Amino acid sequence: MRVYNFAAGPSTLPEEVLLEAQRDLLDFNGTGMSITEMSHRSKPFMAVNDEANALLRELMNIPDDYSVLFVQGGASQQFAAVPLNLLQKGKADYILTGNFASKAYEEGLKYGDMAIAASSKEDGYTYIPDMDKIKFRDDIDYVHTTYNNTIFGTRYTSLPKTDATLVTDMSSCILSEEVDVKKFGLIYAGAQKNIAPSGLTIVIVKRDLIGKAMDICPTMLNYAIQDKNNSLYNTPPCFPIYMSLLVFRRLKALGGVKAMQKINEEKAALLYDFIDNSSFYTNKVNKKDRSIMNVPFVSPNADLDAKFVAEASKAGLVSLKGHRITGGMRASIYNAMPIEGVKALIEFMKKFEMENK
Ligand SMILES: *Cc1c(COP(=O)(O)O)cnc(C)c1O
Repeated sequence: MRVYNFAAGPSTLPEEVLLEAQRDLLDFNGTGMSITEMSHRSKPFMAVNDEANALLRELMNIPDDYSVLFVQGGASQQFAAVPLNLLQKGKADYILTGNFASKAYEEGLKYGDMAIAASSKEDGYTYIPDMDKIKFRDDIDYVHTTYNNTIFGTRYTSLPKTDATLVTDMSSCILSEEVDVKKFGLIYAGAQKNIAPSGLTIVIVKRDLIGKAMDICPTMLNYAIQDKNNSLYNTPPCFPIYMSLLVFRRLKALGGVKAMQKINEEKAALLYDFIDNSSFYTNKVNKKDRSIMNVPFVSPNADLDAKFVAEASKAGLVSLKGHRITGGMRASIYNAMPIEGVKALIEFMKKFEMENK
């Protein structure tokens, strides 16, 4: 039996996509083999690669002067790839809104003069700093942001006021809501949260920013080389790319990102409204900054939290344990989580409250 899987990543995938992949597994498109068994330079795979790239461009309305790269190494690899490719003056500012944002900053420190422009660490990363109040340094190559904070459950609703290139980590929110790609110089995202199995990282980068990588930049991390080779410089993560294509096709059929955003907002509102109206459960995040993808919450105490996670799991609602940094619970309600899953969670929360009040 399929469970409702609230894991933060790798995460639940659409059931119809899994079934389609299962059907294709022994014989992809009459080739007599699966997509994972053929050359990445074969016609069938190249067609998959090209269609996935084109569909992502269409879904996110990515302008032609941006390159869309399918690379490996996870979002964490981009923490290094970004400075290695973008630093010209050697300086960048970071906004620290959580664990991954801090890791990006720490990694950046290896390659340049990085500064923390703003941070919400003192308050447990429960909000996104006020964009109007942040002062950036002069002569910086970019400002790094983390659009959705997976562990703490916050997201940006406005962008830094700066003329510098904006870089953002969208690992846990890519394709969940409409974004204006033109506002960013670079967007990166690990695929394993909102798109596909782990192994694929998406980089959307304005072409005029590439081709100026630092001399020490590893070949594999050099955006210009990946761009020139259509992301096929070496063997790409073929299966996650193929799975992405299936997910992109499904998203398009559902009406695209706009339609998905509507559903996501509806799911998040159901859950937050329930939590806000309850005296048993709490979400500590500043309301304006709440993520529509990751919803952390706690019960009155840690023992009840543990009991909640264990009993929910028995009821087919799995992976609700919060991150080890925060404790409590976290419901990741990515694109592939149906609204029925959120409703089932709320029903369980009601029942648990009644039994444990
Ligand atoms: C999960 C996550 C990462 C780390 O991704 P990897 O692909 O495991 O390196 C980085 N940033 C954000 C916002 C994430 O949610």
